[in-house]
Amino acid sequence: MSTRALGRRLADLARRQAAAAERHAAVAAVVDAGHAERVAFLMMVPEDLRMAVGIALRDPDGDDALHSWVSRPFASWASIPAGFQFPRALVEWLLARPHAWFLGHSCERCGLGVPLLSTWSNDPAPPPTIVVFPTCPACGGVTSHAANWYTEPPP
Ligand SMILES: [Zn+2]
Repeated sequence: MSTRALGRRLADLARRQAAAAERHAAVAAVVDAGHAERVAFLMMVPEDLRMAVGIALRDPDGDDALHSWVSRPFASWASIPAGFQFPRALVEWLLARPHAWFLGHSCERCGLGVPLLSTWSNDPAPPPTIVVFPTCPACGGVTSHAANWYTEPPP
């Protein structure tokens, strides 16, 4: 192989390595952003329940509804207060999940998402009510389906 051909091969290799490094950096940035979001979420879980929530979220046979909680713990109009901690009653209910549920209500005051029980028309044992938290376990505000869809924070 001539010196010139070797030079071209080395230059090509350097270009491919640079392109691979750019792709790797882009993937790492996405992974880091996802990791930072998960860590920020878990920091809102009371410390003694954090490990149980982390394990529940990693369980391949776990509750899919838990992931909806992670992806949208508050209504879109709400801003999460600095240093916010999820109320223990909410986290303990979600970990025990005594019944199938979905994130169907939000607090009309602070926007915290809370579960509703899932049921269906021929449910052999329908719950007397699907409302789990008629008032917000964080601030005491009324919870409703409508609060999920407010376009801005209530006055
Ligand atoms: Zn609230």
